[in-house]
Amino acid sequence: MKNEMGGYGRDWDRADDLDLENRLTDTGYIPGDGESDNPLRPRTFSEYIGQDKVKENLQVFIEAAKSRKETLDHVLLYGPPGLGKTTLAGIVANELGVNLRITSGPAIEKPGDLAALLTNLAPGDVLFIDEVHRLPRTVEEILYPAMEDFALDIVTGKGQMAASYHLPLPKFTLVGATTRAGQLSAPLRDRFGVVLRLELYSPEELGKIVLRSAGILHAEIDADAALEIASRSRGTPRIANRLLKRVRDFAEVMSGGVITLNTARIALDRLEIDELGLDASDRNMLTAIIRHYGGGPVGLDTLAAAIGEESVTIEDVNEPYLMQIGFLARTPRGRVATASAYLHLGLPLPARMQEDEQLRMEPTEG
Ligand code: ADP
Repeated sequence: MKNEMGGYGRDWDRADDLDLENRLTDTGYIPGDGESDNPLRPRTFSEYIGQDKVKENLQVFIEAAKSRKETLDHVLLYGPPGLGKTTLAGIVANELGVNLRITSGPAIEKPGDLAALLTNLAPGDVLFIDEVHRLPRTVEEILYPAMEDFALDIVTGKGQMAASYHLPLPKFTLVGATTRAGQLSAPLRDRFGVVLRLELYSPEELGKIVLRSAGILHAEIDADAALEIASRSRGTPRIANRLLKRVRDFAEVMSGGVITLNTARIALDRLEIDELGLDASDRNMLTAIIRHYGGGPVGLDTLAAAIGEESVTIEDVNEPYLMQIGFLARTPRGRVATASAYLHLGLPLPARMQEDEQLRMEPTEG
């Protein structure tokens, strides 16, 4: 197994992603976010801002499990990276008064790795598996009886030497996280009793998160500055916290450490994060689609080569947000820039879009 369990260390899937290291808008963990022993990570439901529906549901299920003295049903959390799935798993364990063990799908390479993890759990513990859709098939198969009957069925040896063991396990709660629920195999998905979807945060919610984090970091910040950082954070707490730390650096030099609206704006502009949270790479990509490919459609690999970015980076970092704000559309023939993207970049709309845009702007009669 590649990673040491138990801490919040999450470097197991990052070794091949070093090109993302300096991307402030990466929704995934990057070195510098300081996630092990991260003081910014909420420990209780009351500290966890937003995602009200998810929180309310979890609280009910936890109370019910506690009053029946049973273990909590297995929980699947899905949604984009950086929205607080690992944090929620920690809170669930905390509220249940049990240990949290953390690992990820790609880190569990063979059935023996999973067996070692499961047999070391104490009764009631929470096992968090990030990127649960990336578990190897052979591991997934032994996870089914573990989730359902709390037992492991393991076969060792071959031919005449083969022996099978039925190993009872302590009862545990699996919290699985995935960015795309559609990628999970149906038999695995069906074994989660609770399935909850996390949404991107509103700027107001992110503003509260920035204020809370600033308090923990002993950084003085004005409310309007917090909202400015929030509205450029792509709906993602991980990005909001990262931008806060960078803006704080500027504030120390520019305004005696106090983060004012003006400092925040100047700092974010210097970091090349625009009012909508787009960075230089996003703008580069949209400009390339528009200037070189007439607005699209253009295939992912062609686009990646044109702007010198990896295809996976485009898919995981740029596209989800650009699609979310309606700047980019994915068609069977490739990526297309929308009228909103042209307008945001201050580029003239092509004739075919001008008519649509006029219709959109004019109030319809009746
Ligand atoms: P995920 O597991 O979904 O990638 P994490 O749980 O690691 O995301 O969250 C990323 C960071 O964002 C955490 O370190 C935490 O500080 C912050 N965060 C996430 N959700 C919240 C929230 N609801 N309130 C406050 N901070 C949050």
